[in-house]
Amino acid sequence: MFRLSNLIASVVENKKERILNGSIAIWNFTNRCNLSCLHCYSKSTLDEVDTLTTEQIKKTILEMKENGIKFIIFSGGEPLTRKDLFEIADFCKEHGIITYLSSNGLYFTHSNIKRITETFNYVGVSIDGDEPTHDYFRGLKGAFRETLKAVLLANETGAKVGIRFTMTKDTIGSLEYIFDLAEKHNIPKIYVSHLVYSGRGLDNLEMDLSKEQRRKAVAFILNKAFEYYETGRDIEIVTGNMEMDAVMFLNKFAQKYPELKEKMRDRLVKWGGNSAGRKLLNINSEGDVRPDPFFPLTVGNIIKQNFGDIWKGGELLDALRIHPRRQISGICHECKQIDICNGGSRARAYAITDDLWSEDPSCYLTKEERENV
Ligand code: SF4
Repeated sequence: MFRLSNLIASVVENKKERILNGSIAIWNFTNRCNLSCLHCYSKSTLDEVDTLTTEQIKKTILEMKENGIKFIIFSGGEPLTRKDLFEIADFCKEHGIITYLSSNGLYFTHSNIKRITETFNYVGVSIDGDEPTHDYFRGLKGAFRETLKAVLLANETGAKVGIRFTMTKDTIGSLEYIFDLAEKHNIPKIYVSHLVYSGRGLDNLEMDLSKEQRRKAVAFILNKAFEYYETGRDIEIVTGNMEMDAVMFLNKFAQKYPELKEKMRDRLVKWGGNSAGRKLLNINSEGDVRPDPFFPLTVGNIIKQNFGDIWKGGELLDALRIHPRRQISGICHECKQIDICNGGSRARAYAITDDLWSEDPSCYLTKEERENV
């Protein structure tokens, strides 16, 4: 995750560095979902039966805590289809683990919204565009209205709420609309995700943006982040799954604050780019552990193994944990920005070339941007 708004404020205002102290797990507790979105990496449907029991999950949470996992993102499927969801989240809280909820919002009601926002430290709800775009993309007419209602309901509680938006050829026309929506309703956070080729995202590869479209979109997002900072607008912007955004961000930052460029660059190197297998992991609804939710290979299974034995390392995790310069071939090998980006998504590289260590095919930087530090 690339937290550009936080970075601008902390470097310009010379605030203490906010280093992520601990690792993040994205846990797909269920593969069951009331929607069937075109980009879904879990290929979720409403008929799925949960594999992991509450007791298995709690046991693993204790093992994760012992191994430095400090944050769990509750994901799915739709996490709210699990009846024991609050019990699991409360258990995390009791053990000092910070929880985030990632939801489609369709199960938010007046009667459960307080319980949701008081339980989770952050609630992110997916909106993939204006009404027709969202309904088409999410495969359900009327989904947009219900989802927007859910976001507003959660936002009224004063909790930290965000809109999650995935950029594809189908949704990109709504990018500006999403920012307008957040501004109109004072939604405090926008998370813009780039597509990774996994699940339905892999089946529908043609939906990904061209490099030109991506550059244009990222330029728009960066402009918004600087605009919000300069005008004191309290909307945080985060991008995901495209670590080269940080290089484009640095160039823009350097135009505005040339005297702070080196300081920002140092921060970005410490942030460290793609963190799959290092500061980030995924557990799917079958208990398989992977370096990130899109990763084509698993490193273990929590039903059969102690989490600590899985997370302590091994050939794949050790190679992923090389930081800040992972051993990647192609343009990444020569790239002078690899200490910021760390080679981008291994899942995307594998999906296109069958080689886990080839360049990220979605890198949109120019040769000049890759070479000029
Ligand atoms: S060439 Fe590779 S290392 Fe360099 S910015 Fe692009 S993806 Fe990252």
